[in-house]
Formats: sequence, C-alpha cells, structure tokens
Amino acid sequence: MTTPTQASGRCHCGAVRFVARFPSRFVAHCHCASCRRAHGAAFVTWAGFKSDQVAVTAGAEHLAAHESSPQTFRRFCRQCGTKLFFESARWPGETHVVLAAFDEPVDRAPQGHAFAAEHVDWLPFELPKS
Ligand SMILES: [Zn+2]
Ligand SMILES: [Zn+2]
Repeated sequence: MTTPTQASGRCHCGAVRFVARFPSRFVAHCHCASCRRAHGAAFVTWAGFKSDQVAVTAGAEHLAAHESSPQTFRRFCRQCGTKLFFESARWPGETHVVLAAFDEPVDRAPQGHAFAAEHVDWLPFELPKS
C-alpha cells in the first residue's frame, strides 16, 4: 500500500471539487468569531496548504468569494453555499481548506486551537494549557 500524496474533497452539492496535495502546513480548530459566524458553527477545523498545492478540479465557475475582512476571502459554492476555502493577506500564499469538506484523510490530525479564548461558552471546552 502506498502512502497517499493528496486528498480530494467537495462542496455539499458536489459541483465544486478540489484536490489538496500533501504536505499540509497545519490542521487546527479555529474558534474566531468570524469563522463561527461565516460557517454557522461553534468552530471550524482548517487544513492549511500552500496555495499552489490546492487545485479546483471541477466547478470553478461555481465558486464565489465573500471578503469577510479586508483582503480576506472566504470562497464558497454558489449553488449550495458550502464554504470551502479561506485566503487572507495575513497568511500570504496559503489556502486554508475546511477539513470537513474532504472525502479522504489528510496527512495529519488537528494539532491545536486558534483563537481559543474566543470559544463559545456553549461548547464544552477547556482552554489548552500552554
Ligand atoms: Zn455546491
Ligand atoms: Zn477563524
């Protein structure tokens, strides 16, 4: 059995499909208020890649972007609304991909929590000790 070198994923309706080539740079849970509201979720788990390692393999014409903060783009399928990608001038050259959108495992488990202090109080959660 060979070690996978990439993982594919898709939006909820399947119109947009992508492949991310390993290695990822990180996988982490983000508790920031912006991710929370944009995704309608307590937190969002992201897999970060260099942008040239992420390729949209189908449905690129269905991708739309919401500029959620200046020079920060959240890309989503305009047919079903699934948010898939995050790109920001704060992390130049990186594309962060929603881990839940993958159909196949990525190359690492989540390593930590970003913006942990912003976590919702209705999520059972203990601040990681640093
Ligand atoms: Zn879709
Ligand atoms: Zn966030």
